[in-house]
This record gives sequence, C-alpha cells and structure tokens, in this order.
Amino acid sequence: MYQAKAYSVAGATAPFTSDTIQRRETTQRDVRIEILFCGVCHSDLHTARDQWSSVMPTTYPCIPGHEIVGRVTKVGAGVTKFKKDDLVGVGCMVDSDHTCPNCRADMEQFCPGSTFTYNSPDKHGAAPVTYGGYSESIVVDEQFVLRLPEHLDLAGVAPLLCAGITTYSPIRRWGDITGKKVGVVGLGGLGHMGVKFAKAFGAHVVVFTTSPSKKEDALRLGAHEVIISTNAEEMKQHAGTFNFILDTVAADHDINAYLNMLGLEGNLTLVGAPETPLQVSAFALIFGRKSLSGSLIGGIKETQEMLDFCGEQNITSDVEVIPIQKINEAYERLLKSDVKYRFSIDMASLKGE
Ligand code: NAP
Ligand code: ZN
Repeated sequence: MYQAKAYSVAGATAPFTSDTIQRRETTQRDVRIEILFCGVCHSDLHTARDQWSSVMPTTYPCIPGHEIVGRVTKVGAGVTKFKKDDLVGVGCMVDSDHTCPNCRADMEQFCPGSTFTYNSPDKHGAAPVTYGGYSESIVVDEQFVLRLPEHLDLAGVAPLLCAGITTYSPIRRWGDITGKKVGVVGLGGLGHMGVKFAKAFGAHVVVFTTSPSKKEDALRLGAHEVIISTNAEEMKQHAGTFNFILDTVAADHDINAYLNMLGLEGNLTLVGAPETPLQVSAFALIFGRKSLSGSLIGGIKETQEMLDFCGEQNITSDVEVIPIQKINEAYERLLKSDVKYRFSIDMASLKGE
C-alpha cells in the first residue's frame, strides 16, 4: 500500500475536501499512473450526492473521477502493453470477470462482475470501494488501460474516456448515419461530444437545448440546426422528422416531446441517467413503430477504437480547465447547465495540498 493525495466527499451533502487515501502497490498485471487531468462527469455529481441511491448507493468517503489521463510511473512484472512514461487513459471501468459472455464479446461494461472506477467493491481490498481520478495517482489492471493519441491536448482528451465513448458507441451501433437527421438532446459534456461524432460520421445534426445562449456554440461545434426545446412552435416544425435522437439530459424531463420528434421506426437512445423514472407515453411509441433504448459507455476495445478515431480526426472535448480546489463550485455550475462544455481538473493543483 502507498498513500495518495485526493479530494473526497464524506456524505451526500458534504463538500469536497482534501484527503489522503490508500492505493495498492502494483501487482503482476498492474500499471501505476500519475494522473495529469481528470474530467468532471455529471455521473460524478449523481454519485457524490447519492442521487442514484435506489440503484447504486454511494459508499463514503467517495472519490469520483472516471475521465483519467496520465503518465505511467510503474508497471508490474507481467505487464506487456505499457512501459514507464507512456501516456495513458482510464475510463469508467478498472476490472471485470474476464470470462463471462459479455467480456468475451468485448462488452465488459455489461459484465456482472465489472468493477467501476469508483464506488465499486474493491477486489484488491485497498479500500472498501474503488477510488476514482480526483487523485494524484491510480493503479489499474493493464487490460483496462488505454493508449492515447499523443498529439492532442491532454485536458481535452480526458473527457473522451467517458463522455466520448458514451456518445460514440450508440452512434456507431445505430448504423450508417450519413445524411440521416440526428438529434442530440442537451448540450453539456456528453451532448457536445455527441454533436462532434454525429457530424464526423456525416449526419445532419440538430441540437435540442433549453439554453438559448448555447445556440452559437452548438453551430460552432458542428450542429446544422438548433432547436430551443422550450419553444413549442420550433418543436412542432420538426415533429416526426428524426431518424435517431441521443438524449443526454441529466435531470427529469418530458421524453415524450422527443419521441414525438422521431419519424417512422426512429429510435431514441437514452444515455442520460436522471435520478427519477421517466414517464413514457405508449402512444408516442406505437404510432410510428418507434423504439426507445439505452446505452452504457462502451467496451475497452471500442473505447480504444474511439480514441484512435479522435486521434485521426483531431477530436477533443471543449474544456474549462480548473484546479481541484474549484471542484465544489464546478458542481454548482453543472447543476445550472453552465459548463462549456466539460470541466477538466488539472491535477498538478493537488501538489500543494
Ligand atoms: P451535463 O454536462 O450536466 O449536461 C447535461 C445537459 O442536459 C445540460 O447541459 C443541459 O443542456 C441539459 N439539461 C439539464 N437539465 C435539463 C432539464 N431539466 N431539461 C432539459 N435539459 C436539461 O451532464 P453530462 O456529464 O453530459 O451527463 C449527462 C447525463 O448522462 C447524466 O445523467 C450522466 O450521469 C449520464 N451519463 C451516462 C452515461 C452512460 O453510460 N449512459 C455515461 C456518462 C454520463 P442544455 O443547456 O443544452 O439544455
Ligand atoms: Zn462519466
């Protein structure tokens, strides 16, 4: 065991404070990583504030962070993929059972024994639960470590590890979206990456936003059109015209309004995970044989494919870089949909703690 600096919350209403945690020494297959940047996902906030208590209750102290980029400082004797000084990333998972049908099909995110980067039982026993990336270092099985494109801005690469793969995966799975009318609901961390990927794959991209002030940014990020979703007239004009809609909203909202935007056999995929159940109107689905589905991050192989694609296309997240000391303020801004378009924590700021 060794000690690492971190920022943790002690309870659902507690602020983040400086902390020291125990990490395991590198075992045979482990990679130890000095964390350089960590993105701030809305899932971090849901978890820190125990908003998903009915499905995944939070164990405290809680140290979120699953958009991790850093440099390898040490490798176990059996590690073959990485060496000291490599630039690497870690996303939402740090382990799985490696043997179930989902793992064998490169979908470790659906493994019943998967270990998430934070708030999952820690198989290694270094702590009751895993601790995430709001920390100076992390130790991870090499199979869950990703190789990064070296030429991109690292602060903007970090969010690819969750916001990137969570939007890339359902867009790729939908099929050939070239020329299709694709909607992205919510222009936040996930949403702005959804816009970039849908554009890169040739779709006609339309952003639904509740924030009129984001209209210009949406167009700059690659959207062809922007709909202010609170404007009934604008919504009406587009009813029944979409092939695919990606819903990234983090709070309760009227999903039927977006199902009504779909054309015949259109699909709405939910990636946003509001704490309260959404009300779905049967009529919004059965008229037009529409489908509603969900998607959870992506497997390790697909995440690597996404990172390589971003390297080729020069795709990164638009980030506001913050020191860790601003994390409480950042959460308040996330709740107000006020982030352009992902906070990325510069972990060098932890050194002075
Ligand atoms: P975020 O940066 O806070 O963005 C969410 C956006 O939703 C906001 O910027 C806002 O966009 C819109 N929004 C917020 N409240 C709304 C409301 N009441 N009605 C309509 N729109 C609203 O959050 P994020 O990090 O992108 O995460 C989004 C959700 O995805 C979270 O629930 C998160 O837990 C979940 N998530 C899921 C996965 C997965 O694997 N499925 C992975 C990561 C995150 P506008 O201002 O444009 O309206
Ligand atoms: Zn996330």
